[in-house]
Amino acid sequence: MGGAGGPARCRRGGGQLMARLPVREEIAAAAPYGAPHPPVPVRLNVNENPYSPPPEVVESIVRRVRAAGVGVNRYPDRDFAELRSALADYLIRESGVAHITPEMIWAANGSNEIMLHLLQAFGGPERALVTFEPTYSMYREIARGTFTDWKPGKLEADFTLDLGHGIGHIDRADPRIVVLASPNSPTGTALPFATIEAIVRHVEGRAIVVVDEAYAEFRRVGTASAVELLEKYPHVAVSRTMSKAFAAAGVRLGYLAGDPELIGYLRTVRLPYHLSAITQATALAALDHAGLMLAAVTELRERRDRLAGALAAMGFEVADSDANFVFFGRLADRHDVWEQLLARGVIVREVGPDGWLRVSVGTESETLAFLRALAEIRKELE
Ligand SMILES: *Cc1c(COP(=O)(O)O)cnc(C)c1O
Repeated sequence: MGGAGGPARCRRGGGQLMARLPVREEIAAAAPYGAPHPPVPVRLNVNENPYSPPPEVVESIVRRVRAAGVGVNRYPDRDFAELRSALADYLIRESGVAHITPEMIWAANGSNEIMLHLLQAFGGPERALVTFEPTYSMYREIARGTFTDWKPGKLEADFTLDLGHGIGHIDRADPRIVVLASPNSPTGTALPFATIEAIVRHVEGRAIVVVDEAYAEFRRVGTASAVELLEKYPHVAVSRTMSKAFAAAGVRLGYLAGDPELIGYLRTVRLPYHLSAITQATALAALDHAGLMLAAVTELRERRDRLAGALAAMGFEVADSDANFVFFGRLADRHDVWEQLLARGVIVREVGPDGWLRVSVGTESETLAFLRALAEIRKELE
């Protein structure tokens, strides 16, 4: 991953990488996170919503930012009260859970920064974080950055989580934090509510459970959100983002719902004024128009199901998806397929277990372009 654009390093004896500066060894050995992003016409690699906001939302953003501009000589509201309240309202509407208050909401520059705050407060040296692989690779990287001991368990071959393995692994690892991504990335599969609750009950008094619901709005009908667990369990926190369904990846706004005590610890570790006045204004404008921002979700979900069906009909294995992407395999040489798609102007993501690729749901024509290119490549391989 990443690869190009890393800092200058020199190679000495034995081909070992040697940094010229006194950097931490594990940082010198790592590449910066990031999917390759060559300028191709069909970009289906980072799970964005493919539609830009309608003109009236753009107008609202301009109005809110203009008003914020008048006050930029001052630091922003460091507790972003108005934004917390708007996020609480949105989460109540989306999840159907009524008791969410602004004191239960935290926000940061993307849900990645939320995860950083969580690991700064609950992780650290001699404290373990458990994830179940394959999952989102940033957990591991943020664990590294916070000196947290990352102890991965595993998902089954069909990317479900076996509760017996999960509990056994947690008991051996003795974590302070368990992160469950549901719907998961890169697989797309959501965890059953009962599995999440069983883990939550099992670790009570020992660990917090963070459910990363970055793709929640895309979940299939009947799949419950872990937001429903918040009233009963103060050691549960649910992380969400405006980057995916909300069609606002450029705003960099992630948020979390949890017990006010937990939120208080995140306040302690955050940098002062971490959310700029411009970010707050832009996120508020988008939340003013939540209905418009989310207008494409139904369409994207239906297209996802058709895309999964089309890939299965072509003979691929397809992971169950509750997200805006589909994970498919098994490819004898996935890198070759990735490159051949790229040569046809389509970029997907090479991530997770070997033999699989992840494709985001784009517009109708982008999705068709992907399927057409893939069919051509398969014909050549035969
Ligand atoms: C995309 C994604 C996020 C979102 O990150 P942001 O920093 O909010 O853009 C979080 N978790 C998972 C699993 C994701 O795939």
